[in-house]
Amino acid sequence: MSAPRHKAVILHPPARDIRLEEVEGPKITDPDDVIVKVTVSCRHNTPTISHIQLSSALWAMWKRFAPLQVLSISLRHTGSVKEFIMGHELVGEVVALGSSYGNDVASRPLLYSTLRIGDKVISPFTVSCGECDNCALGFSARCAYSKLLGSPSLSGAQAQYIRIPKAGGTLVVVDPNQFSGIPDPSLLLMADILPTGYFAVRSALRHPNLELIKRNGPLRIAVVGLGPVGLCALVGFLDSLAEGLWDSSSTQCTILAVDPSRSRRERASHVRDAVTCRYPASVEYLSPDEANEWKAKNGGVHAVCEMVGNNSALRLAYDLIRPFGVISSIGVHTAPNLPFTGGDLYDKNVSLSFGRCPVRSIFDEALEVLKRWPEVFGVGNGKIIDKVIGFGAADGSDVRRTYAEFDEGICGKVVFDPWKE
Ligand SMILES: [Zn+2]
Ligand SMILES: [Zn+2]
Repeated sequence: MSAPRHKAVILHPPARDIRLEEVEGPKITDPDDVIVKVTVSCRHNTPTISHIQLSSALWAMWKRFAPLQVLSISLRHTGSVKEFIMGHELVGEVVALGSSYGNDVASRPLLYSTLRIGDKVISPFTVSCGECDNCALGFSARCAYSKLLGSPSLSGAQAQYIRIPKAGGTLVVVDPNQFSGIPDPSLLLMADILPTGYFAVRSALRHPNLELIKRNGPLRIAVVGLGPVGLCALVGFLDSLAEGLWDSSSTQCTILAVDPSRSRRERASHVRDAVTCRYPASVEYLSPDEANEWKAKNGGVHAVCEMVGNNSALRLAYDLIRPFGVISSIGVHTAPNLPFTGGDLYDKNVSLSFGRCPVRSIFDEALEVLKRWPEVFGVGNGKIIDKVIGFGAADGSDVRRTYAEFDEGICGKVVFDPWKE
């Protein structure tokens, strides 16, 4: 079974050469595969504020290192530098099922028995089988079969069709009762950035040291990096103050929202205005220098969510943290060393939490955040998504312009509808 020829956004490494091309449709190559017709997909990261996407990590390295090093890193991952379809977030419709499906196998994840052609699905940005030891523990980001969508090892979602391996463990079916009224672009945030922002917050607030502060307050926390994922973390913090993770809403709380970009800070203030009215939290919007000044006056914070993935952001997180503080780092770090020593960490009793969000494992928890703040996670001015666009001109010029605008900070999160003209 295979999908028809389709349009796809393809990166041709090692240069940052992005093209819109018509290519062969994906095929079922394993009994556990599913082919999904993509309704909406996106990318959200940049070389400077890089997040999860491998292609962007490669670009970041491209900027920082000599081309030969990029080549060697890519070779380490793939054995070659070959082109691949970009994009790792999608909502779509099942159009073909491998032979593992429809067989009522009680020992496997439920979708192997229940998934049907025509089902609407969300795919988290990494493959997870739902059956290995790591998946069983709730660590789906490190599934034994993990693959990153939109990387040299697996074709991505900026296309009209995509093959999802281990789909019975990976996909989430959009049940109309559970998801009623949530538009597709908002559902798309569930593929990565909303759970990822929430995960960064959860990793900090569930730490035992933070439990102590919860009893003794006042709480001071920071979000470093206010790109789309950082905004999701900001909403996650505000949400946690009254709903769930952080149940003592009487504790006075200060949140530092830190980013060098004024426009990102302004967007953060719009997002905050839509969620904070019920909570006793004050948010300070600061540049990195202003954050250091704030720290000199006020003595630092108990937790930092570091959403950027470079050493200047991580060093700022260390500088801002109080003794026994928690740094929850969600950015993809490509630098060879951390910007502090073991001794630095010892001297402040800092706890570090690093790594990729297990989207599939925490999906239901994160969905509750989306349901509480549907307007914030919508499309438009002051919301997390800027706009929904088609692939545009057949020569790929519109796609390239969108990428360039994002990288320059002109636009925020942009969602692609691969069927829109
Ligand atoms: Zn697994
Ligand atoms: Zn992402």
